[in-house]
Amino acid sequence: MKCNKSKPINVHLFRSWIRCRRKAWLEVYGDKQKKLWTAHSTLQLNHQIDCFHNLSQKSFGVGIQACEEGKNIAFGVRLKYPLIKNRIIKGNLPILKRTTGESIWGNFSYQPVLARQGKKTTREHKLILAMKGLLINNLQQYQVKKGLLCYKEDEIIKAEKIRLSENINKELLNSLLSLDKDIESKTPPPITSNRKKCMICSWRKDCDSIAIKAGSLSEVSGIGAKREILLNKVGINNIKELANINHNKLKEKLERYGTQHGAISKQIILQSQSQITNKAIRKNAEIELNKLKESRGLYIYDIESDPDIKHDFLHGFIRLQKNIKNEISLKKIKYTPLLNLEKNTESFLWKRIIKKLNLNKDYPIIHYGETEPISLLKLGLSQGANPDEIEALKKRFIDIHVLIREYWCLPVKNYGLKSIAEWIGFEWKQSNVDGARALLWWRQWKKSRKINKMYSRNLNSIFEYNRDDCIATFMIAKWLIDHE
Ligand code: SF4
Repeated sequence: MKCNKSKPINVHLFRSWIRCRRKAWLEVYGDKQKKLWTAHSTLQLNHQIDCFHNLSQKSFGVGIQACEEGKNIAFGVRLKYPLIKNRIIKGNLPILKRTTGESIWGNFSYQPVLARQGKKTTREHKLILAMKGLLINNLQQYQVKKGLLCYKEDEIIKAEKIRLSENINKELLNSLLSLDKDIESKTPPPITSNRKKCMICSWRKDCDSIAIKAGSLSEVSGIGAKREILLNKVGINNIKELANINHNKLKEKLERYGTQHGAISKQIILQSQSQITNKAIRKNAEIELNKLKESRGLYIYDIESDPDIKHDFLHGFIRLQKNIKNEISLKKIKYTPLLNLEKNTESFLWKRIIKKLNLNKDYPIIHYGETEPISLLKLGLSQGANPDEIEALKKRFIDIHVLIREYWCLPVKNYGLKSIAEWIGFEWKQSNVDGARALLWWRQWKKSRKINKMYSRNLNSIFEYNRDDCIATFMIAKWLIDHE
């Protein structure tokens, strides 16, 4: 592996490094063919375009010339400067905003702008703003004191000023030096101990296979970064060691660090045994599935949402008029997608859902995870459903995720719908789809439907994905009954 001393550090690489040191290294040296496409970067880019579009004003221009002319907004400014020794730092700054100050161009200056997804301002946002700020300092010869962070709240674009203190600039320079050191190294930094980050990372396939080969504890469902450190402290360093230890012995060792740690010892040992042998292990012999197995039929329910604006845009249902133990042809299953175009059309939606669910009031409603009942009950309450109606609805829900966790240890890294359904052999019709991809399709379709029908296929893709989520939920429920 050749060291890449000549490669400049840019904003993209630095952002990757803040998220995971290994990710930045892989961006420089990794085999790009092993990278997976994820919808997250496109969602981020679209969000950025929306936010920046909102900032656009009459007086704007492009590049450094726009700054020289004192425009309110300067788009597409490209800067580079050796902020640290021997390494050029590059920044393609999509947008700068004019503010007060004394720059080389007159009695004004420019500040960096960043778009934030999510509710909180993080260290990543501050460091990226600081990096852009230092590059602008060098250009305008005036210190940037604040950066602008744009975000969406209930579909309204807002902006928050972030102070770029000496401390954050110091942290930035130290971070750039560490990044420089990492990409000079011939070997990649270790896989992050916080494996939650990996779920949306395009290098996850590569890292997962390395972690599995190494028998890393982070591969065991239920073991996060802190628990892994704790297990290392008591002498457990890989899945095999965990699978072979006596439960009481581990409990005793972990309890030295708090009783709550001892309590999970049995669970993580069983989980590691399941993963190492690739076999399902029953946790609870007294499985109680009468409601599910004796019902004449059932509803399967799955929601798709836009979390940024708290909008459940699709409520997908399948009504199965057969007992779950019967032979069921998945191809013939009738799926009903109920779309909720805008947040303020919910009274119509509620009526349609209730009409559907009242066709068979005795059927339970199965779902995977807590989102569906929470959303539906909230919708009912907001639409004036009476307490009896809400109570009756509550009693019909069966969370398949809770049941599977309660009764089984399965050889999977996590207990998400996709992992479990794929483990029992179910395949989604469309490859590489997830909630983020469905959200991207939805946002594209929503934008385009006002203009043309270019994206009409997107809606069908969302329905197909949601239908498969419903069927996957059903398949897991059926597996539970078949293995009772
Ligand atoms: S998959 Fe995880 S460990 Fe690997 S580069 Fe991505 S975040 Fe880092």
